[in-house]
Amino acid sequence: MIKIYNTLSRQLEEFETIEPGVVRWYNCGPTVNGLMHLGHARSAVAFDTIRRYLEYRKYKVRYIMNFTDIEDRMIEVATNEKRSVLEVAEEYLRGFRRDMNALNLKEATINPRAMLHINQMIEFIQKLEEKGYAYESKGDVYFDVKKFEGYGKLSNQKLENILQEGTEDTQNPNKRFVADFALWKAKKPGEPYWPSPWGEGRVGWSLECSTMSMMYLGDTIDIHSGGQDLIFPHHENEIAQSESLTGKPFAKYWLHNGFINMNKEKMSKSLGNFSNVVDLLKNYTADAIRLFIVQTHYRSPIDFTEDIIDQAQATANKLFEIFLLVKLFSKKEDTDGPLTETDKEMLEIVKQSRAAFIEAMDEDFNTSNAFAVIFNLTKEANDYIRKSDDIKLKVTQAIDIFFDELRSIFGIFEGIEKDESTKTISTLVDLLIELRQEFRKDKNWVMSDKIRDDLKKAGIALEDTPKRILWKLDTDK
Ligand SMILES: [Zn+2]
Repeated sequence: MIKIYNTLSRQLEEFETIEPGVVRWYNCGPTVNGLMHLGHARSAVAFDTIRRYLEYRKYKVRYIMNFTDIEDRMIEVATNEKRSVLEVAEEYLRGFRRDMNALNLKEATINPRAMLHINQMIEFIQKLEEKGYAYESKGDVYFDVKKFEGYGKLSNQKLENILQEGTEDTQNPNKRFVADFALWKAKKPGEPYWPSPWGEGRVGWSLECSTMSMMYLGDTIDIHSGGQDLIFPHHENEIAQSESLTGKPFAKYWLHNGFINMNKEKMSKSLGNFSNVVDLLKNYTADAIRLFIVQTHYRSPIDFTEDIIDQAQATANKLFEIFLLVKLFSKKEDTDGPLTETDKEMLEIVKQSRAAFIEAMDEDFNTSNAFAVIFNLTKEANDYIRKSDDIKLKVTQAIDIFFDELRSIFGIFEGIEKDESTKTISTLVDLLIELRQEFRKDKNWVMSDKIRDDLKKAGIALEDTPKRILWKLDTDK
């Protein structure tokens, strides 16, 4: 049974979907007013991993992630850059798609854009008005939070405290109450606008997500997710307006990912604007970035320093090397035979590792604990290939199947499967290793050294182990 930490109840809950086997999930997507940065990547990779794990556990996941293309921050950038909001949205939306693909994030079932749903949003506001939850004031329309009893339940605050803390534009004289939030904003000079029953204007940000979530997934969904910074006021507002409209719970489970603490002093200037994914990818592989993110549990903060991401790159290289080694040995034909005690032990380790991995992930997707299991298994697998007398196909295939599952859950090392040339290279290198052994038997050191050195120049390093000679792509050169 999978357990999920629900921000709404502030505890671990057993995960039970409304419709058995189907997960209806709305993830608050980015505002497309700039490049995808590490904060976006953290949220996207964390939830992509959870989604992939739910699919591994046989759920069908309907995953909706919006792109916010009309909002205060969009207008700010468009005004500064003297461009239309649509132009800004198009450019950065393309950038997001490019970077999301580069990070191997699974495509959403649908990526709705706010600007294409204005009519549905206007209808939403009208219904709230009819029910007495919204009021018009000088061309703006506000949600009357005092009318909704549960306001503050997600962020765990009382209405009086919200009043003291204040929310966005506390000084706004059009509002009846400080925490009331805008559903519709009257047109201001230079801003994009749409016609409405309250005059020309545009929708409030929080309304966008409520409308699109209900439209594509229904009144009540299983998971609503986003960064911790969205809990208040964004998600609190979504709950208020949605539940006032339908009288039903808006989402069963609320998931929020932790922040990335950027320690800029510890980063070298040579790496440029480090926090943008497109720049980060110039220095690190997507696998390293994904590992950097998922080695920490999704709710915990991550400190971002150059050392830590360098370390993630080294880990990614090492893991890739072992995954590839196992893959190559699982495809060889000459390693079959009766199982020894060592073989049986290794098979048992694989079985136990998978069980321990699932146990870790079932506990609120604890990727941090899951990686402890994975590192232990890769060490054992590495030892098995380097030290056992005979490498059995049955064993390497069992390890390889689990490695494939892990690759698919963490969205890493796609190249192992895609790259058909790896197999060809492997066959050729094996042949060269065999030739080199023949030369060595004949004490022809000149030829045997030549093979080793030329392979090295071609980026392939040979390693003599007690039992056999292994090779790897030389990432240190
Ligand atoms: Zn949202």
